[in-house]
Amino acid sequence: SGLLPAASGGRASSDSGAVSSRVRVAVRLRPRNADELAVDADFGDCVELQPELKRLKLRKNNWESETYEFDEVLTEFASQKRVYEVVAKPVVESVLEGYNGTVMAYGQTGTGKTFTLGKLGEEDTAARGIMVRAMEDILADITPETDTVSVSYLQLYMEMIQDLLDPVNDNIAIVEDPRTGDVSLPGATVVEVRDQKSFVDLLRVGEAHRVAANTKLNTESSRSHALLMVNVRRADKGRHEMDVSISGENGHSSSTVGSLRPPIVRKSKLVVVDLAGSERIDKSGSEGHTLEEAKSINLSLSALGKCINALAENSPHVPVRDSKLTRLLKDSFGGTARTSLVVTIGPSPRHRGETTSTIMFGQRAMKVENMVKLKEEFDYKSLCRRLDIELDKLIAENER
Ligand code: ADP
Ligand code: MG
Repeated sequence: SGLLPAASGGRASSDSGAVSSRVRVAVRLRPRNADELAVDADFGDCVELQPELKRLKLRKNNWESETYEFDEVLTEFASQKRVYEVVAKPVVESVLEGYNGTVMAYGQTGTGKTFTLGKLGEEDTAARGIMVRAMEDILADITPETDTVSVSYLQLYMEMIQDLLDPVNDNIAIVEDPRTGDVSLPGATVVEVRDQKSFVDLLRVGEAHRVAANTKLNTESSRSHALLMVNVRRADKGRHEMDVSISGENGHSSSTVGSLRPPIVRKSKLVVVDLAGSERIDKSGSEGHTLEEAKSINLSLSALGKCINALAENSPHVPVRDSKLTRLLKDSFGGTARTSLVVTIGPSPRHRGETTSTIMFGQRAMKVENMVKLKEEFDYKSLCRRLDIELDKLIAENER
């Protein structure tokens, strides 16, 4: 006799519809630093923000300016709390519901990417950045008895993925599921997070390893990408219930002898990406790099730009496979994740060129549409355990 689970009634989780969701882009202006206050005091900022209109004016010269619209315009007075609420909170909430999410910072070195994302804020809690605040919200929402949160922390430099939680792993391979196309990093350390303090400790360890790795390789951290991956696994609270019939086959006839609700789990992922500085690397080698190194250092970031351009233009060919960064961010741009980008700029007219290219990157990213989709699946392990129990009961009944 066979015992087969058969779907009946309800809505199969794999059918859950994908919904179109555009990449959201905020621009954040860093306050003038001491240098800029002293040296450029007589010059105005190269940008003028109109946050209530969600507009930014870029000065070309004394007479001309160009106006750009963003989803959010964050002035030099915007608090870390507000930046979190505007840029990251909607994504975090969506991850808690079972969608993948991405929060990424793009901009020239020194404009506040790490301040925005990675600031630990231990001495000044108001300064806490997006990573720390996101984990606070995640830990506050999950049910510790049934849900788990785990993290990996990686650095990508010259097309090599290094494990910031275990620096011995310095060339982690990307593995692609041939069936779903999903990418994973089976070689990366995954640490379960139970409380906020241990998470902040992990971030601190990761940051120390990042500095050490860069010293060893004689590289500047501004040239590497840092990726924090937060995996959230939640038992579904029964929103999509579905019956599984257990049929006992007897010769040609089969009859339903019972049914049970298969448990569903949601496995979603939040990726926080602190990109390498967007400024062009000097190909002449004046930074101590050979031309080959300069090309390799630039590869992932320029590949990301090309993918975003292709997606923004609805081009049939998106060159995802050109770099490790674009492979890792496949779901973040043109995939199933909800994605929020913050482009960071400085006020100095000396960096007008870099500021302009950062703004243009942000404008193109605003045209990218993702198809967000619930990441839920049957909890096969727990379903099998329950089927085993039902089977034992049936056998015991038959033996009576
Ligand atoms: P990036 O990661 O883009 O290279 P950082 O985050 O390291 O830039 O910022 C460069 C410097 O500017 C740091 O000293 C940082 O503390 C400071 N900074 C950046 N953004 C802000 C901000 N919004 N308010 C105050 N200081 C900031
Ligand atoms: Mg940085």
